Amino acid sequence: MTEKIYDLLVIGGGINGAAIACDAAGRGLAVALCEMQDFAEGTSSRSSKLIHGGLRYLETYDFKLVRDALIEREILMRRTPHLVWPLRLVLPYVASQRPRWMIRLGLLFYDYLASRKVLRRSEAIDLHRHAAGEALKPSYRHAFVYSDCRGDDARLVIANLLGAERSGADILARHRFVKAERAGDLWRITLEKDNRAVVEVKARALVNTAGPWVIDVAEKMKIAVGRKLRLVRGSHIVVPRQWEGEHGYFLQTGDGRLMEAFPYERDFTSIGTTDEPWEDAPEKVTISDKEIDYMLAEVNAFLKKPVTRADIVWSYSGVRPLFETGGGRDGDLKTLTRDYAFEIDHAAGKAPVLTVLGGKLTTHRRLAEHAMQKLCAIMPWPAESSSREDILPGGDFGAGGIEAYRRTLRSRFPFLPEMQADRYVRLYGTRSDDLLAGARSLADLGRHMGADLYQREVDFLMDTEWARGVEDIIWRRSKLGLRLSPVEIGGLASYVKVKTPPDIPS
Ligand SMILES: Cc1cc2nc3c(=O)[nH]c(=O)nc-3n(C[C@H](O)[C@H](O)[C@H](O)COP(=O)(O)OP(=O)(O)OC[C@H]3O[C@@H](n4cnc5c(N)ncnc54)[C@H](O)[C@@H]3O)c2cc1C
Repeated sequence: MTEKIYDLLVIGGGINGAAIACDAAGRGLAVALCEMQDFAEGTSSRSSKLIHGGLRYLETYDFKLVRDALIEREILMRRTPHLVWPLRLVLPYVASQRPRWMIRLGLLFYDYLASRKVLRRSEAIDLHRHAAGEALKPSYRHAFVYSDCRGDDARLVIANLLGAERSGADILARHRFVKAERAGDLWRITLEKDNRAVVEVKARALVNTAGPWVIDVAEKMKIAVGRKLRLVRGSHIVVPRQWEGEHGYFLQTGDGRLMEAFPYERDFTSIGTTDEPWEDAPEKVTISDKEIDYMLAEVNAFLKKPVTRADIVWSYSGVRPLFETGGGRDGDLKTLTRDYAFEIDHAAGKAPVLTVLGGKLTTHRRLAEHAMQKLCAIMPWPAESSSREDILPGGDFGAGGIEAYRRTLRSRFPFLPEMQADRYVRLYGTRSDDLLAGARSLADLGRHMGADLYQREVDFLMDTEWARGVEDIIWRRSKLGLRLSPVEIGGLASYVKVKTPPDIPS
């Protein structure tokens, strides 16, 4: 049997690796992607979930980053319409902070930089007359409202992987990259499965999208990275829903930062984030008491009804893999751009490797297109990407859009409670039809596992989305962890264990 040689092996199944695999496979290349843990288990399930230009980056004059990200916002609403949706954000004016004219000007500029076709422009509001004022202390009178988007970070990763797989890519879950050596114009790569079985593959090029682990992976292929990477912790707390309405708040904090609070998973409110240097291993990141106190104090400076520690139902933390742009003081997080950079190591007759540094969830498609342009300039590969027009699996709602699909799904499966049908459409888009195929009643969905989770969905996630453990199902493929009791989670764990075939080292 001849050994398969991939054109490209992507190391790291976060949003950037998944998007690059999707773009590359869409160009007709033979692609594989390896991920050492669950997909999105690194940074890409731990973000603030904003698909945004980043209003705050106007203050650091990152205009190009803001404009590129704003353009991506609308592209992603077309490419993955079930996973990216509009959000109106209310920014209360605080007399001791940025002047009103500055905020107004910034928002006008934000509106101008965005090629808005769908989203509404910004406006000034009187909080004493507007519904958004009801949750806030009466001392706040004026505010500005503007548009950005929310997204489901971990599911965007899965959508990109499904897109890559649709174009023929091999998606290697729980395969750790161990080392790679050049053999002329090929890389010989050693991967290790989580059962310790060793897998050897060959590829004409490598991409290192290991996020916070990028230097570690570069060292395993003996590549020096020129830029200095800095890890910055960010944490979030989730509490029961604090106000009516779908709008979020963008709050100016006492230390001059900006923090978001917005509706989360229908019945909850998400509050975040923090910005702190992180020196330890990325996988050790957890929220600190200091961060919790800080977030509670800042949000309570605005909300009429205070949020307490006892309200916190969940929290999560991640590390941003940022790099220094130079010129700043050591420890000054403002010298760390949210933009991305590439480093490419190649020479004639030598297989190339592209290292990806930084990046935002919002810019993943563009980063992928850009990364592939770099590689296509030195490899005999198709120069054009179709990612700007492509719709990822689940997003093909047709002319009627997501609302029409939601209505027809409910009429075709009338036994589904509204919330369950909505959840399916939001998570799986048109793939909800595959999930529900042939079902005529809730009983056809198999064993009830708690909340609105049935065996059929667990099987769907394990059979078609590489889910294997309980956490994959309740925290990354869905957020059902917010609704299931410990006993129900235990029951799910037993089911998942029985369903997972024993993985014997080969
Ligand atoms: C608190 C916080 C808030 C954020 N908010 C936003 C936001 O609102 N909007 C926005 O646009 N961006 C936001 N971001 C940024 C965004 O989340 C990240 O830029 C993005 O998720 C990085 O993705 P990645 O694919 O580069 O890295 P990751 O998601 O970390 O993926 C890297 C993957 O590589 C894998 N890996 C590592 N070593 C190996 C190995 N040896 N073998 C195989 N696999 C390996 C890891 O397991 C990991 O899954 C935020 C980030 C944080 C931390």
